[in-house]
Amino acid sequence: MKIVKKVDDVRKEVKKARKEGKTIGFVPTMGALHNGHLSLIKASISECAFTVVSIFVNPIQFNDPADYKKYPRDNERDINLLKKEDVDLLFIPETEEMYKERAETYVEVRGLSDVLEGKFRPGHFKGVCTVVCKLFNIVQPDKAYFGWKDAQQLIVIRKMVKDLNIPVEIVGCPTIRENDGLAASSRNVFIKEDDREKALSLYNSLKKIEDMVLKEGIKDTSILLEEGKSIIAKYTDVELQYLEIVDFENLSPVRKIESKVLVLGAIKLPYVRLIDNIIINV
Ligand code: AMP
Repeated sequence: MKIVKKVDDVRKEVKKARKEGKTIGFVPTMGALHNGHLSLIKASISECAFTVVSIFVNPIQFNDPADYKKYPRDNERDINLLKKEDVDLLFIPETEEMYKERAETYVEVRGLSDVLEGKFRPGHFKGVCTVVCKLFNIVQPDKAYFGWKDAQQLIVIRKMVKDLNIPVEIVGCPTIRENDGLAASSRNVFIKEDDREKALSLYNSLKKIEDMVLKEGIKDTSILLEEGKSIIAKYTDVELQYLEIVDFENLSPVRKIESKVLVLGAIKLPYVRLIDNIIINV
């Protein structure tokens, strides 16, 4: 695995691989790697002859500076993990390499970015789309791998790629969970053992809704959401930021489940914010 820090070096390596007729797979990450990231990397390696991984904690997607500051970072551990996989190229730029001069150009997907996460993290998706667009221009991959764990992000990026005619195929990969069902996340390292049950309340609420739909045939989303919210409400220091059932394609709220929907939520423990979702296909 080659490790580079400069944009020009990424270009050089990718050009070489392309000359050899290799398809380029790309997995953008913010590091603090876990099994969720590794599943994306494995998918790229299985489908593409040359896999590029990036690690970059993108400052412009953090609406809360304290969250940016305390975001877990451990490049040495990440590099060791990646060496065990068949990754061809790792791009770890410094912030100055990605944002060399004051940037005046941003990429914004309106509408889809303004709901759900967007309401609680203003500017977040603008930061995500801008950096992902930059990374796509740097790497120029044939395929890029994203997790359904961040369902809204995946949908927003697909829209950006479509609207801007970016020549890349976006591949969505299933959410990887820890043994008890908690979605793998870099932020899970912050969860205190005693708070595990609280952290799991969102997943338990999503599972309850799924059971009610698939086993009991309940389709009315107001009934489903009321029940889901009651599971989280049991924990007084868990703040439910949102729990919604929305259309799988356009993220608009659904009253009665008649097609594929996404059930998404965000909770806040006093010291960590967690998101999760499930897809229900009736
Ligand atoms: P991050 O480092 O959090 O920006 O995530 C990088 C990529 O990994 C994104 O496409 C995420 O959706 C994906 N990802 C994060 N957690 C998981 C997970 N538990 N399962 C699958 N993909 C994930």
